[in-house]
Amino acid sequence: MADELLIGSHVGLGGPDYYLGSVKEALSYGANTFMFYTGAPQNTYRKSLDDMKIPEGRALIKQAGIDESKIVVHCPYIINPANFSKPDLYALSIDVLVSELVRTAAFGAKMLVLHPGASVGQDREQCIVAIANAIDLALEGAHNDVKIALETMAGKGSEMGITFEEIKAIIDHSKYPSKLGVCFDTCHTHDAGYDLFDFDNVLKHFDEVIGLDKILVVHLNDSKNVRGAHKDRHENLGYGEIGFDILNKIAHHPAFKDVPKILETPYYNEKAPYKAEIAMLKEGKFIPSWRDFI
Ligand code: FE
Ligand code: FE
Ligand code: ZN
Repeated sequence: MADELLIGSHVGLGGPDYYLGSVKEALSYGANTFMFYTGAPQNTYRKSLDDMKIPEGRALIKQAGIDESKIVVHCPYIINPANFSKPDLYALSIDVLVSELVRTAAFGAKMLVLHPGASVGQDREQCIVAIANAIDLALEGAHNDVKIALETMAGKGSEMGITFEEIKAIIDHSKYPSKLGVCFDTCHTHDAGYDLFDFDNVLKHFDEVIGLDKILVVHLNDSKNVRGAHKDRHENLGYGEIGFDILNKIAHHPAFKDVPKILETPYYNEKAPYKAEIAMLKEGKFIPSWRDFI
């Protein structure tokens, strides 16, 4: 179904069903793609892949007609490839990145989302070079066909990657630009100051700086904060400062036809909002107060 909206959400990877459970969770939301962390996002402890029901999950993916090449893995966010002045931490970030690239391939996925890191008081130009070098070493270490999608960041603290120009500079400093792409996060770009209400203009700017073909993933989130707030607090579709209409337009934008759109919106009353959010996006119609009905 080529015309079907390519949409999914973040899903878990917990026992007892592990990857089989991730796929089942995605299907229960009416999704045809999804994103997951191969372990806890906050740490680098990683369970052995042998016990994760990967063959069972991949069989269900095939049976459900999901395009495996559009499934997304997200790196743990504590690694900081920008922090070059702490050699031990920098080396650890590279090691973790190698292992995440290898794990991504083991799940049959092809895209790994990476936060570019934080400058933590170091010179930002030097950080850009450090990030590119770390990525190159990791790509050489893993030596597989997984691509890294650098995520556009909100600019919280000293985050790197808050402008398209900064992301482009990282790609340009890499020896392997064809293995690098971008994860366009709507909450983050809005919080970074981009005016999503003039989305075609934002895309035009992106195209001029980086090139639209570099967008591998879209993170579709509303934002709790006003444009330029640099906060990074996600909100459910239609409950934030971006609003449903713009997010719906982005989801259906022809430029993103083959790009997986991934919801990272918060749970509401401990319930996953994704089934309702995906249904509204498929219909292209907002249901006021939808959260009261999930
Ligand atoms: Fe992220
Ligand atoms: Fe994101
Ligand atoms: Zn975020």
